[in-house]
This record gives sequence, C-alpha cells and structure tokens, in this order.
Amino acid sequence: MTLPRLLVLSLGGTITMMPDASGGITPKLGAAELIASVPDLAAVARIEASSPFRLASPSLSLANLVDVARRIDQGFKAGFDGAVVIQGTDTIEESAFILDLLVGGDKPVVITGAMRGADAPGADGSANLLSACIVAASAEARGLGALAVLNYDIHAARFVQKSHTALPSAFASPLTGPVGVVAERRARFFMRVERTPLVPILDAPPAPVALLKWGMGEDGRLLSAIRVLGYEGLVIEGMGAGHVPAEVAPLLGELAEQMPIVLASRAMTGPVFTKTYGYPGAEIDLIGRGLVPAGYLSGLKARLLLSLTLSSARTPSAVGAAFAAYQ
Ligand code: ASP
Repeated sequence: MTLPRLLVLSLGGTITMMPDASGGITPKLGAAELIASVPDLAAVARIEASSPFRLASPSLSLANLVDVARRIDQGFKAGFDGAVVIQGTDTIEESAFILDLLVGGDKPVVITGAMRGADAPGADGSANLLSACIVAASAEARGLGALAVLNYDIHAARFVQKSHTALPSAFASPLTGPVGVVAERRARFFMRVERTPLVPILDAPPAPVALLKWGMGEDGRLLSAIRVLGYEGLVIEGMGAGHVPAEVAPLLGELAEQMPIVLASRAMTGPVFTKTYGYPGAEIDLIGRGLVPAGYLSGLKARLLLSLTLSSARTPSAVGAAFAAYQ
C-alpha cells in the first residue's frame, strides 16, 4: 500500500524552541529536524518538509499565513494528499481559521504545535506532530476544513481556542467540544462540520482591522482614533450577548457609517444575540445602527474574516454575506 503524501511546513513556535543565550527558549529547529526526531512518521506518510518561517507565533502576520495558504494550495495541485502546519500555540486558533477560509478542496489541512519546549521534560511536540500527520493522512479528515490537533484532540478551526497558558491540554472548543480524537494511532471523528464559504487568496494585502474588547465604564473615546490610525474595519467584543454602555451606541453608529463594524462577544463562547435585548447599547440597537453580528465567531476570528473579506470586497452586503455563514 502506498502511503499518503504530506506537505509539512514549519513556521516556528515552542515546538521548535531550545534554550539560548537569552536565558529563555527561542525558535531553533526546522521542519526536517522535527520530522527526523519522530521516526514513527515513516509508517504514516511520505513527507516533504520545509520551514518557511522560524518565528515565535506572536510575530506571525496575516500576510505570512496567506503565504502559507498559497503554498498548501500549490502543494495540493502538485499532488500532496494533505498538509500539516507546525507553529506556536499562541496564535494557532487564528492561523487555523485563516487556512480554513483560504484553502479550498477537501484535502486535510492540520495545524499543530507544542506547549513545552523541544528539550523540556515531557515535551509534547513529537506526540502532537505524529498525531497531526495521522489526521492529515486519514481519509476521514477529508472535507472538514482546517483542523487543529494537540494533546490527541482534533478541533475544527472555527471553534478552537487556546484556553490555558501552560497545560498541554490548553486547546478547547468550548461551543462544541473536539470533533474527534487520535487513539491507537488512528483518527476517530465523532462529528463532522460543513465547509464554510471560501475567501479567495488575493495578492492585495489584508485590510487593517482593529479589535476592541469592551470593559465596564469604557466610554468609547478610543473610537475617534480608529479611522485616523488607518484602520478600515473594526471588531468589538461587547459584553455578554453583544452589548456596550448606552452612551457608546451612537459613537459606534457614527463610525459604522464610515467603516464596517462587527459585533462579537467578550464572553468565551456562544452566539451574539440579534433580537432579545431592547435597551440602548444592546444588540438590537447596535445592529440597527449598522453593526454586523459575528454569530458564534470569537472576536479574534471575526477580525480575520473581516480583514480578508475587505481585501476583496468592500461593500456592506459583502461583509454581511461573509458573516451570515456563522450565525
Ligand atoms: N509563545 C509560543 C509561540 O506561540 C508559545 C507556543 O508555541 O506554545 O510561539
């Protein structure tokens, strides 16, 4: 039996990090070294590996991930059966969602990393890399969009969140739970998610979109700076089901006449409401003033969708249509 062909791209992250003169750990290893450190991979897939970046994931940009999406797209056209992206866990939920939006077709795209450095006792990188390749090589993973695989759990890109700063079990999908698990070296799926609409991979740079989390007593004075600073869109994480203080609603309404504003929630999970609360500053008021509800997308993911949508289409109807799939 011929093993599936996998494209493995390493972008850096703790999984690649070793101690250095800084006194801490920094990205050192490339994809080839990571693959060589897990001999069991030879029984899973035929792997071609490269290291487009060696960065800590807070320094990855949207443009970097658009570049990765393009490489995967080309790899799939060249005959690879699946792709694995290795990167830092701090921004895995964002990278996974970008790849979910940009990479078409039904071949698996799996993202992984590690919570412990490469030379730490109990380093989780090799187990995660092996699991990620098992999932990417499995026929059952086809058609599910981008998946994040860590700690044996398989998460759908749109639901996964980093929810702990330290534990190997840091990744969770609070709205739904994981879609599957890797056990006995096999990917097992307990539910399937539908693909959501693709966003085209464009040459234009992603549009700058600001993200603001609303805190008690915040009077909205920051809003006057958003346009001046060159942002082309805004996502706010409102309180609860999507609410702000009453005096902030007209400020958001004025800004929504100049740029798209998406309403997400600062609560960890659950959809933004659209038709329940009628007080000033609540979701009915804000949507009436032109804000677009983010549905169940987190503020982080709503920001990415708005940015990528704005780089191809700037009309209010295009923004509404982009978020309609997540309500
Ligand atoms: N700060 C690291 C990074 O995201 C954390 C990790 O990889 O787990 O690159």
